[in-house]
Amino acid sequence: MKKILLPLLFLFVFSVESFAHPLVLTDKEQTFVQNTPKVKIGMMPDFTPFSYYINDQVVGFEHDLLDLISQKTGLKFEKHIDKWTNIYNAFKDKKLDVISSISYKKYREPFTKFTSAYYDIPIMIFVKDNFGEYKGLKSLKGKKVGVLKDVFYIKELENIGGMNLVFYDTYEELTKDLVFGKIDALIQNLTNINHLIKKHLYNNIVLASELTLPNTKKEDLRFGMQPENRVLSSILQKALSSISKKEMEAISEKWIGSIKEYPGGHIKLNEAEKAYINTNSIKYCINPAGLPFEGLNEKGEHIGMSSDYYRLFEQMLSAKFELVKTSSWNQSVEFIKQRQCDMLALGMETPERKKYLNFTSHYLDVPLVVATKVNVPFINHILDLEGEKIGLIRGDAFVKILRQKYPSLTIIEVDDITEGLDKVKSGQLFAYIDTLASIGYEFQANYFGELKIAGKISENLKLSIAVRKDDELLLKILQKAVNNISNERHRKILTKWIPIRYEQGIDYKIVWEVAIGVLVLLSLIMYWNRKIIKANNLLKQAQKDIEEKNRELNRLALTDNLTSLFNRRKLEELIQDEINKSRQTNNGFCLSILDIDHFKTVNDNYGHQRGDSVLIEIANILRDNLRAADYVGRYGGEEFIIIFPESNIDAVKAITEDLRLKIAQYDFVGIEHKTASFGLTSFDGGDTIETLIKRADNALYEAKESGRNKVVIN
Ligand code: GH3
Ligand code: MG
Ligand code: MG
Repeated sequence: MKKILLPLLFLFVFSVESFAHPLVLTDKEQTFVQNTPKVKIGMMPDFTPFSYYINDQVVGFEHDLLDLISQKTGLKFEKHIDKWTNIYNAFKDKKLDVISSISYKKYREPFTKFTSAYYDIPIMIFVKDNFGEYKGLKSLKGKKVGVLKDVFYIKELENIGGMNLVFYDTYEELTKDLVFGKIDALIQNLTNINHLIKKHLYNNIVLASELTLPNTKKEDLRFGMQPENRVLSSILQKALSSISKKEMEAISEKWIGSIKEYPGGHIKLNEAEKAYINTNSIKYCINPAGLPFEGLNEKGEHIGMSSDYYRLFEQMLSAKFELVKTSSWNQSVEFIKQRQCDMLALGMETPERKKYLNFTSHYLDVPLVVATKVNVPFINHILDLEGEKIGLIRGDAFVKILRQKYPSLTIIEVDDITEGLDKVKSGQLFAYIDTLASIGYEFQANYFGELKIAGKISENLKLSIAVRKDDELLLKILQKAVNNISNERHRKILTKWIPIRYEQGIDYKIVWEVAIGVLVLLSLIMYWNRKIIKANNLLKQAQKDIEEKNRELNRLALTDNLTSLFNRRKLEELIQDEINKSRQTNNGFCLSILDIDHFKTVNDNYGHQRGDSVLIEIANILRDNLRAADYVGRYGGEEFIIIFPESNIDAVKAITEDLRLKIAQYDFVGIEHKTASFGLTSFDGGDTIETLIKRADNALYEAKESGRNKVVIN
């Protein structure tokens, strides 16, 4: 592999890193830029951190890269954000000029001109933290190893043999199964899994090694262009090549951060930032009662997760942070407004707070859960709490958010978590919402066995450092620090603070782990149950609709529009059925054709519409006077056919005579009496539909010939 990869890497490194070429466009290229209002580029909505959504905005590495290319070339882009398969197909159909995040594959060459790679994502092997020592791929022998379906290195893994590969559709499922021990290891590209680890705070999986196989390179990200558009291809390649190492690093640092463990002391600060750190001691406030996130111990020292993060920031930045003590979270907020401190260690970004604070990107992302009494059913959705009293901490960012988002909820503010949980215990509140970590922490101390975590709400609490609005330099410095926290560091801090042990009695770590496990499992089960029930209901409804539609279609296909009797097609089907039946049972059946006498005169004298209504009236007479087992349909025009199953001709003759009379006596309002002629016959064993109808028709003809208003048997 080295032989193939090294020159490739070298080329890439050479062009991008060492000698960024100044960008010189040819006349042709310049004309292209001037004459092209927008270059259509397909980008993904969910390819973190390259192109993805934060709130409603699509952002990421590739977007910054495109901005840079725009600046350098003057090209303007029209972004089409859609799932990979959609942009990929649109690109193949030549509906897009460019596609981003495409990896080089030989088979794509006929329809893709590739730029050089702007990023190579390493492929990594992750294992559970109890995996034991990882000694290369041989450690995976006999283990369940999760991989994404259709990923390009599967063949090579299979060739190695020995591992039990388990295939997944999505990164999320794959990662979740490792977290919950369904598989022993997973192989996955680094950026995606890093994102998931951060998002869900998974803290029991560890990086074992990079996957290096002879034919498995890193996943290379490139732009792809339509091969015939040579000018655009050359402009984009030139633009990429002209990006300096520094520019590329800045983008990487912003979106990907340092992947390696932070060794301390080398965050790059510019002169102004260094000066700031050297001359200021940075004052910060915390929530004194927010453990395990942050709080004060008996000695009044800052403890909790944020304290560890701050210690880390101090090392990273060689800075000095100074805690300004307050007695409550609200006082901390007041303090920062009054400039008594420069920043809040952990704060949630809200529109209201953004008026006076800037926020770094979030460095803690924690699920919010609902605590209730143990006998309450599990809560699937926050709206299950409608009509109940729900406690939340006073002034908490979520009070406002939930009130705005779910105005039908009854939110009661409490002063602190103990008040909230006590009120749930005493029944004054139905539920209390807080982070999993805080509720778990309190549960261990005071409420175990009495309260439970009844569900998770879809909103997560995303915590950032909040900085005074006027101190932008500090914000920049802190953002760099936040970018440089490694996942390993996150993991260590989380595991340190989440499973807190108490002195005697129960090992609360286990309690806590079981609680989380149960919660997650239950919520997964509930989630799937709910999904399945929902899907089933939808299916049932769809099935009903389809059945209903089918019935309607059948009815339409088989009945005559005007009279709602059977139509010709159905009549023929019924006759065929009777023929088949009669052949089996030897029971005969009869058939009659009737034709209205001088019907033309109705149309001629009273109009076609009255003619139609006479047809309907006659149809009704027929329907009303036949036996339940008989069939009647409109064979055409003003001719009808009646089928008399399992009947002999004498009985049918009587019925037909009766019908003839009923018609003849019927009073058609506004017009004279009408009569009909009948031709009647019975099945003779050798009949087909045609011969049977023909014989009845002959009888009808005879009835007409011999004076009409008659039944003639043939
Ligand atoms: P005959 O006693 O010989 O049957 O005389 P007739 O006038 O009924 O003659 P025939 O059966 O040949 O003509 C049928 C007429 O019925 C012709 C057509 O104008 C009329 N007709 C056929 N279908 C419809 C229909 O759906 N609505 C109306 N209003 N008239 C129809
Ligand atoms: Mg006729
Ligand atoms: Mg007629």
